[in-house]
Amino acid sequence: MSREPGRWVDPAEDPFTDPLLRGRAPRTHFPPSGRDPRVAYRLVHDELLLDGVSRMNLATFCTTRTEPEVTHLLARSFDKNLVDKDEYPQTAELESRCVHMLADLWNAPDPASAVGTSTTGSSEAAMLGGLAAKWRWRKAREAAGKDTDRPNIVSGPVQVCWEKFARYFDVELRQVPMRGDRYLMTPEEMIVRCDERTIAVVATLGQTFTGLYEDVRALSGALDELADRAGLDIPMHVDAASGGFLAPFSAPGIDWDFRLPRVKSINASGHKFGLAPLGVGWALWRTPADLPEELVFNVNYLGGQLPTFNLNFSRPGGPVVAQYYTFLRLGRTGFAKVHEASYEAARHIAAEVAATGLFEPLFAGDPQHGIPAATWRALDATAGFSLFDLAEHLRTRGWLVPAYTLPPDRQDLAVQRVLARHGFSMDMADLLLDDLHHSLAALRRRPPSRPLRAEEVSTFDHDATPAKP
Ligand SMILES: *Cc1c(COP(=O)(O)O)cnc(C)c1O
Repeated sequence: MSREPGRWVDPAEDPFTDPLLRGRAPRTHFPPSGRDPRVAYRLVHDELLLDGVSRMNLATFCTTRTEPEVTHLLARSFDKNLVDKDEYPQTAELESRCVHMLADLWNAPDPASAVGTSTTGSSEAAMLGGLAAKWRWRKAREAAGKDTDRPNIVSGPVQVCWEKFARYFDVELRQVPMRGDRYLMTPEEMIVRCDERTIAVVATLGQTFTGLYEDVRALSGALDELADRAGLDIPMHVDAASGGFLAPFSAPGIDWDFRLPRVKSINASGHKFGLAPLGVGWALWRTPADLPEELVFNVNYLGGQLPTFNLNFSRPGGPVVAQYYTFLRLGRTGFAKVHEASYEAARHIAAEVAATGLFEPLFAGDPQHGIPAATWRALDATAGFSLFDLAEHLRTRGWLVPAYTLPPDRQDLAVQRVLARHGFSMDMADLLLDDLHHSLAALRRRPPSRPLRAEEVSTFDHDATPAKP
């Protein structure tokens, strides 16, 4: 007989009378013996109350809203290992369909023959894109009888996964720093960093710090010119972690994808604006020739030939299954509508924040130029409180609205950002704005004795703050 987890059925007993809940929870020592599941569940369940409400976490890009159908599909897939393609052929089939649908969405020359894979997220997908670029570069250098030392990769201010890629796989990362009011990589800044050892240029469609899109078309054009002028044919990878699931629906006119022949690979996070639950990303290559075959392992495994290109072996099948569901469920028009609502909420926040007269929006949810985010800076350094104080104050009401300093060379500039996602309704936006006004009034009435600085706050925005080496 099935029962609800953690439900106490014998009224004479109560989980809170159990020694586990009357003592200190095990922290450092492996528990010597087991427990009734209801007691263990109650402890774990109640500890998690302290995590707060994920829907009020306006720092994260990841899906925090779901449908019962998705939870059901996840529950039915919890036992399926995505890597066992021979044993679970239909899960593998759904993954493959998603790859081709994305190739279609991103305008690959031949979606039916496109190659790609699901990953645990954009970070793994970025590593795979970077590795393929490194292998292609090395093969071309070897074929030309040249050395293969000191490869580099050129980018604008990137998400931390590219710093990881560079360090883990021994590639020099040449990041174009921010300067003044320029937050993105420009063609001019890119070109001067490119040379014969550049394995790829990484453009970001939806920079985490500001929300802005880099101009992939202009960057690609500059590389075309470089190829004509100097014979250097440098491929591009687009980190479309957010933008890959936004631009095709909300700004279909932007050329950023496989329409540009120089774009050889793309990564995107299914679990961000792909609206799938946490645990899925995508890496795609323009044509099979762009993915070096040496990187694809054909494992003879449990009676099947298994082509894989992933960093991990076992992975849950559920997030991929749920991704296929979201594609069917929403289609192009559904995604466009969901994202349109998020952009509206982001613009509303930006407008109201600007109307306080205290802040200046850096970016305000324009679908032609970035993701559904509102990012602002403080106008008045003499206000007596900082954006970090405001973030802390909002946190007392449960809102996570991160304040952080920008990466080099604008570490002097602190900004604050609201990420509007599926499920962040206009009503929730208004509730946040009410609390923002209350916080501002409270901070003005009683300013902190000394405004908080970036290094004094625990930063809760892992998306925006790369670890310092
Ligand atoms: C979120 C993000 C990543 C990392 O993606 P995960 O899916 O969290 O691994 C990489 N690049 C950009 C631009 C991002 O926004």
